[in-house]
Amino acid sequence: MNGEWSVETKAVQSGWQPKSGEPRVLPIYQSTTYAYNTAQEVADLFDLTASGHMYSRISNPTVAAYEEKMAELEGGIAALATSAGQTASMIAIANICTAGEHFIAAATLYGGTVALFTNTLKKMGIAVDLVDPELSLAELRKYIRPNTRCIFGETIANPGMDIFDFEKFGALAQETGLPLIIDNTFATPYLCRPLELGAHIVVHSSTKYIDGHATSVGGIIVDGGRFDWKNGKFSEMTSPDKSYHGLIYTEQFGDAAYIVKARVQWIRDIGGYQSPMNAFLSNLGLETLHIRMDRHCENAQKLAEFLEQHDKVSWVNYPGLKSHPHHNRAQKYLKGCSGVLTFGVKGGKKEGEKVMNSLRLAAIVVHVADVRTSVLHPASMTHRQLSEQEQKAAGVSPDLVRVSVGIEKIDDIIADFNQALAKV
Ligand SMILES: *Cc1c(COP(=O)(O)O)cnc(C)c1O
Repeated sequence: MNGEWSVETKAVQSGWQPKSGEPRVLPIYQSTTYAYNTAQEVADLFDLTASGHMYSRISNPTVAAYEEKMAELEGGIAALATSAGQTASMIAIANICTAGEHFIAAATLYGGTVALFTNTLKKMGIAVDLVDPELSLAELRKYIRPNTRCIFGETIANPGMDIFDFEKFGALAQETGLPLIIDNTFATPYLCRPLELGAHIVVHSSTKYIDGHATSVGGIIVDGGRFDWKNGKFSEMTSPDKSYHGLIYTEQFGDAAYIVKARVQWIRDIGGYQSPMNAFLSNLGLETLHIRMDRHCENAQKLAEFLEQHDKVSWVNYPGLKSHPHHNRAQKYLKGCSGVLTFGVKGGKKEGEKVMNSLRLAAIVVHVADVRTSVLHPASMTHRQLSEQEQKAAGVSPDLVRVSVGIEKIDDIIADFNQALAKV
């Protein structure tokens, strides 16, 4: 680990460390299997008494190098890369929350996460309360039950752009003995490191800024390694696992109990590990993370300022604007406000659609957070499966247009929006 390096240097240099004569660039180990000299070596791997690669459903050298880089970037002890951001959120919770248990999440969430929490986890017997994140600490306390097992939120909410109140939720986690799990997708470890702000576990959809080029779907869980799983609430962590001859995670793996269990239990049983090819691309994306994020932030700020003064725009939502309700919070927790902004066109949904259809440089895509400027209409796309009330709680109004501001020349981006707005 190179803990003393700055994030920019880690983004370039951490992870793959070639030995003399090995490839300088992270190789793609496109192999499901690994070869051994003795049967005993394999038996030890199965028993988790030795570490090493055994089968690429569970680990792989290319993916491992990328996991190490992400763990270092977030300041965690280890990471687990998954096939999608959804897999990361699902396993991050199911790893410590079982049928009959409960968790709370800030309601300002990505639509897919709301669907996962309120449908699929519910079917598994895991209950969730989606809470208004602006409630006071005293009001939030009322949602914590004896069977509550974690607290979940997004650093920068997609697409509401609400900034998570780390101080308040960190205090709640601390006093209730619950881990705080943060989806850091929109901020990336360059703009915010939740583990330094009271979070215990970080998840990402690496499909977004980490890859950054819209080539690979992926997710990752990073373990801060500082949560006390022996506080009496997490029996699966502290009692024997029959599927490993009675192994006890906290005893055998100490601070890494959570992330090891997620891998050797969940990923072993359901799959969902990241492929070597996607890990290679995620890692390649990370090498320019800091450069890209600086430009995404700069461009989004300028486009937000342009739209805010435009007479056909009714509102603009970007935390870098002084008019944003969480502007001060953003200054406190973030190095920059990321590349996503939302706005409404005067008139409403129909006029907004007209603007979207008139854009030339910015394409309509079901994606966000890559180098190309793009737009999306959450109410009819990403948040379509949510009820009107859930959409409102997630910060989605019918007229909301979400812009993912790319890293092109800002003058060209502004000119494109200017000509599209002239059409209404
Ligand atoms: C996209 C996204 C996800 C889901 O990730 P996938 O990689 O699409 O599965 C989760 N959280 C946030 C904030 C996202 O933007």
